[in-house]
Amino acid sequence: MADDLEPRSPKRSAERQPGPPRGSAEPGESGVFQTGSEADTEAAGERLGRLLAPGDVVMLFGDLGAGKTAFVRGMARGIGADPEDVSSPTFTIVQEYTGRSATLYHVDLYRLEPAEIDDLGLEDLVSTDGIVAIEWADRWKGRPDDVIEVWLEHAGEDRRTIDVRSPVT
Ligand code: ADP
Ligand code: MG
Repeated sequence: MADDLEPRSPKRSAERQPGPPRGSAEPGESGVFQTGSEADTEAAGERLGRLLAPGDVVMLFGDLGAGKTAFVRGMARGIGADPEDVSSPTFTIVQEYTGRSATLYHVDLYRLEPAEIDDLGLEDLVSTDGIVAIEWADRWKGRPDDVIEVWLEHAGEDRRTIDVRSPVT
């Protein structure tokens, strides 16, 4: 990650769960760092977005306002899609943004009932050639293991702690 981001305690990285190799995921994507503004969080998402390949799945975890949508906006820019299109999906549960070499599917599971989540066909979506970003990913009980996880936490005012865990550690 960028030089301007402060690394946090390396302890958490030792606790990362290694998973099977998948897609383009590389160890270099992983790390725990802090951002000091929404723009910083978008920039972090953009860096990850540039490393993604078709078929990659990014699951985002964190409270309301933690910056999940901001991170996805950066991801969209990183894959060459228009970041202005990225907002919290409201009426459309799955939003689609066309990038340079892949389509980004942006899913928000906030407010959905478990039965509605089951009906979305997420299993099919994550097995396509698209790149999939899922907010409130903890609500999907049928999730695959071999995904990139992004954990965002409030760290006071405009600071956020972001923990990116790639399946290869
Ligand atoms: P989520 O999708 O997790 O609910 P959003 O990305 O929609 O969160 O919103 C994050 C909110 O927090 C925005 O209002 C943004 O301006 C604000 N914010 C303040 N500091 C940061 C930061 N470091 N990173 C991301 N968002 C931040
Ligand atoms: Mg959101």
